[in-house]
This record gives sequence, structure tokens and C-alpha cells, in this order.
Amino acid sequence: MMMSVDSSVDRRDESQSTGNGNGNGVVTATNRTTYLSQRLRLNRNEAHQPENYDDLELEFNPALYGKMEQYLPPNLLTATRFHKLEYMKVVLDRYLTDHDRVRIQKHKEYRQYIISSYQPLHKEIYVMHPATFFVPSFIKAITENTEESLRSIISEPSPGVYTFEMLQPHFCELLLSEVESFEKWVQEAKFKIMRPNTMNKYGAVLDDFGLETMLDNLMNDFIRPISRVFFPEVGGTSLDSHHGFVVEYGKDRDYELGFHVDDSEVTLNVCLGKQFSGGELFFRGVRCDKHVNTDTQAEEVFDYSHVPGNGVLHRGRHRHGARPTTSGHRTNLLLWCRSSIFRESRKYQKDFPSWCGECLLEKKERQRQFVEATKKELLKREGEAMA
Ligand SMILES: [Zn+2]
Repeated sequence: MMMSVDSSVDRRDESQSTGNGNGNGVVTATNRTTYLSQRLRLNRNEAHQPENYDDLELEFNPALYGKMEQYLPPNLLTATRFHKLEYMKVVLDRYLTDHDRVRIQKHKEYRQYIISSYQPLHKEIYVMHPATFFVPSFIKAITENTEESLRSIISEPSPGVYTFEMLQPHFCELLLSEVESFEKWVQEAKFKIMRPNTMNKYGAVLDDFGLETMLDNLMNDFIRPISRVFFPEVGGTSLDSHHGFVVEYGKDRDYELGFHVDDSEVTLNVCLGKQFSGGELFFRGVRCDKHVNTDTQAEEVFDYSHVPGNGVLHRGRHRHGARPTTSGHRTNLLLWCRSSIFRESRKYQKDFPSWCGECLLEKKERQRQFVEATKKELLKREGEAMA
């Protein structure tokens, strides 16, 4: 199973998670040079009380700046809110090229057009309403928000793959019907829509037709509390942006999905229905960029059969794919959750990632060789002493 990193990482338009850098506060060339020489700290300064940025019109969610503040270089912690913000903007701005900027602007216009023309069918799903969206056990566990309460509703059938009952059947129906209605509008308006990612030819981006705020609530209030417990080492605690979409399989839709990794830290995958056979998710171990093409170890092989309404949560770097949906139609809701702080801090980390199966294997091999060499050396010395 060979695949290149570029083609196997499922990427997409970054427009919702990155901005155009022209927000409040002008960053001058001199500032930029000074700022760029200082790096974010690797570890959060938990004692630092961040500012509130809610009143500002910013590129990203204001909460992100508050969180990012705890990672600022120590000398900046006492700077004014304006200066801290300038620094953080420069850090975030480093992600963007001119090409990105143009693409982001175009995508903004694309979304504005859809939202001004498409009339939602079920307005009630555009605003988060836990009691009608989720099954009671899910709400209860999240409300209690302890590791114990979460473990009581979540199974881990294979290391790093978590499954749980999540959505009410009625909500699944409403969402499916809304997606159908949106696609009908797309056809009638002869509108050229952007598909969710580079690998699916069908499906739709939910964030593009008005569901962004609801899905942001889903990530912040429901998925982050779970990720905080199960995926802290890949930014599960600091998830701050998402890409939400549906994929469709079956006749006249996608047939299967090749082996890949997601452009996310944590992925939520929930089957919405309806009737289908096949379409199992297959997992093949978690890998870092360097090791994405390496072999699978026997204990990493795991197949999962979708159950409508049930959620699957896994690391974005957990290699996976979808087997052919052999009959009927299957639609799944996908929420790729990302952490900008995790992505930024990865750039400075020299040590191997503890979550990569191959890195762990390499580490074990180095330890084995070391023990072997030490043993030999001891035996040799013993032999010399005996002589
Ligand atoms: Zn690795």
C-alpha cells in the first residue's frame, strides 16, 4: 500500500480557518522582523490570565487568541493587548501566501452568494439544540464532563478509535433532507458547488450553506470535551476550527474511498443513514508525515461497520478508508476538527511524535539495539575478567 504524502492527505480550501490578514491593527515591516525572531513557547503558561478579544472583528474565533496568548514568549505576556494581538496575527499570517489570500476572498464571495440565495428547509437544525439533536446518554455524559462519564458511553474497539451513540434518528432525517434540498437547489440553479475535499466527488460542505455556527458549537461544546480526554497529545484540548461536510455513497454517488489521512487533528464521523450494505471504515494505524506510507502492524488492522446515529472519533492522522457501499445509499456527517496551536507548536518540536505507530516502533528498535550492545559489552568485559 503505497501513497504519496501530498496525494494521500485529504486537503481542502482553508478559507474558514484562516483569514486574509487585513483585520484591525497594522503590522509594520519593523514590527514583523522583531516579532518573527521570537517563537511561541512549547508549553502553555497556565498561570497567565489571557485578555478577552470578543469585542474585536478578527480573522479567527476570538477565543483562539485568548488561548494562544498563554503560549506567547514570556516578555510579551506583559505587553498591551494591542501588541499581543499584533504578534499573534503575524504568527497566524505566516500560514498564508498571496495565492491563499486570493482563494480565501473568492471562497468568501462563494459562501455569501449561497447564503443569500438558498432558502433553508429546516431552520431548526441551523441552531444547536442538544435535546433534539442528541440521544440523552450523550448529553448526560457531556454535561457531567468527567473521564468516567465519557468512558461510560464510549467504546474503544481498537486503540484510538472511539465509538458512541450520538444523534437522534429524527435529527439524522432532518439533516439528510436539508442536504437533499440544498443539492436540489444546486441543480436547479445550475450552480457549480465545491465538493468537501479532493477525494469525494459527491457530498456537500455544510459550512458553506449556513451550518458553520451550529457545527462550531458541536465542536466546542461536545467534541472538544471528549478530545480533551482521549486525544490531548494531538491538540484535542485546543481544537479551534473545523471543516464540516457530508459524503454520499451508493448508486450514482461515490463508491468507496481510498486509504488516506485527514487534514484534521481529530475527526468525527457519524452515519446519518439511510439503508445500505457495505461501506465499512477500515483503519490502519496512526502515522506522522514521515511515516504515512509505512507498513501496517497486525494489531493496527481494524474494520468498523457504520450504525446510523452512531459517532466514530479518531485522530486525523489515523490512516483509514471506506469499503465499497454495495447497495442502497449511505450519507455520513464528517467534522474535521483542527488546532492551530498544535499545528504551530509541531513546527518547533524536534522529538518524535508519541502517537505515530512507526516512530514508536523505531524507538523500540533503538532501545533493543542499545540493550543488545550493552549486553555484548558486559559479556566481553566478563570474559576479560575471567581470563
Ligand atoms: Zn513517525
